[in-house]
Amino acid sequence: MTIDQIYTRFLSCSTVSTDTRTISENCMFFALKGENFNGNKFASEALKKGASFCIVDELEYAVDERYILTANVLNTLQQLATQHRKQLNTPIIALTGSNGKTTTKELINAVLSQKYNTIATKGNLNNHIGVPLTLLELTKDTEIGIVEMGANHQKEIEFLCTIALPDYGLITNFGKAHLEGFGGVEGVIKGKSELYVHLKQQHKTIFINETDTLQIKQAGDYDDIIKFGNDISLEHAPPYFNITFNTSEIKSKLTGIYNFNNICAAIAIGSHFGVPDEAIVSGIETYVPKNNRSQLIEKNNLNIILDAYNANPTSMLAALQNLQIQEHTRKIAILGDMFELGKEASQEHQAIVDFVGDLDVDSVIFVGRHFYKTNSNAAKIRFFETFEDLKSKVSELELDNALLLIKGSRGMALERVLDLV
Ligand code: ATP
Ligand code: MG
Repeated sequence: MTIDQIYTRFLSCSTVSTDTRTISENCMFFALKGENFNGNKFASEALKKGASFCIVDELEYAVDERYILTANVLNTLQQLATQHRKQLNTPIIALTGSNGKTTTKELINAVLSQKYNTIATKGNLNNHIGVPLTLLELTKDTEIGIVEMGANHQKEIEFLCTIALPDYGLITNFGKAHLEGFGGVEGVIKGKSELYVHLKQQHKTIFINETDTLQIKQAGDYDDIIKFGNDISLEHAPPYFNITFNTSEIKSKLTGIYNFNNICAAIAIGSHFGVPDEAIVSGIETYVPKNNRSQLIEKNNLNIILDAYNANPTSMLAALQNLQIQEHTRKIAILGDMFELGKEASQEHQAIVDFVGDLDVDSVIFVGRHFYKTNSNAAKIRFFETFEDLKSKVSELELDNALLLIKGSRGMALERVLDLV
């Protein structure tokens, strides 16, 4: 069957699905393969649960006309997404970067949806499967699509661009994340810049925060760059901060000065698309972070900055700097290992330990085997090799009445600290 024929069937479906546990009536089911599963085996179940068609890639499962046999289900998903995106021709904004993609995507969506019918990447579905799934959600009523693109190695962003064909692009920043897969910081810059390369080749628009000189340099000489940032200012109002642009003031519900850049991007993109200033303000003010990303929580007698969603050297430093400027009589950080740093792991963990030595915080508790291997004589620092070790000693840590920053890589799952306090 040609991709056009599959597309016709897709148009007759209500939606797409890749998971039989969350299937909806009249959907098109894509029998994807993973390391530990073969979606082909679930195709018949998908049909029983209401799917109208199943895309499969193993002959033995294609037993009637509801099964569409292709050479590779994933490729078909990606081709169909591009076909759909081309057909509707909805303006697409793509975002990548080392940190803050999801937050910025949510902020941009909060702003643009004040005026437009938008769709945006759900949660963190930002890879070679998530990007096509996002595009397949576009409808003829969608006025703007906002697509998060994640990457941990070279050529990934280039590939995602060929699927999504963005009209606009933004890189949140270049940071020390996924160093292992990218091959160091230079590799990160090169890999993320594939978005700029694509936009330039296609004569599309780049948004750049002009306070980021590295990004300005990477984008180079190009006439379709919209610069922003210099005309937006910030005032600390711990635990949050306020932002002024034009004559408007935003009282954000975000902590962490790093979120200033994320908000600046949303203001600039909102302004570019003609969202009135007061609607930009309300879009940003109503956005409250979820999912362990810089969330402010109160529990018993503690104030907690729960940032346990993820960590890398750049976001770890940013979170510590944010803790430093908070107004609180006792400040404590519980920090877990940072993963995916490859051969730079020990050096980067030591750098964080050295950094906190001079920091204006009362104590720092490190958890994980990478931090455990570092050295420090600072009295305010304690090390635990595992979460279980921390758990067994938590009563000795004197956390009472503190402002607590909790941050670590996803694999550390440091939100578990909430159960201990
Ligand atoms: P992922 O790679 O998992 O998709 P992401 O780029 O989407 O991550 P977010 O989920 O928005 O990033 O934010 C994750 C964490 O990164 C936040 O909780 C915060 O600690 C940190 N962070 C967010 N924005 C920035 C930024 N601009 N600079 C540095 N750190 C940031
Ligand atoms: Mg994300």
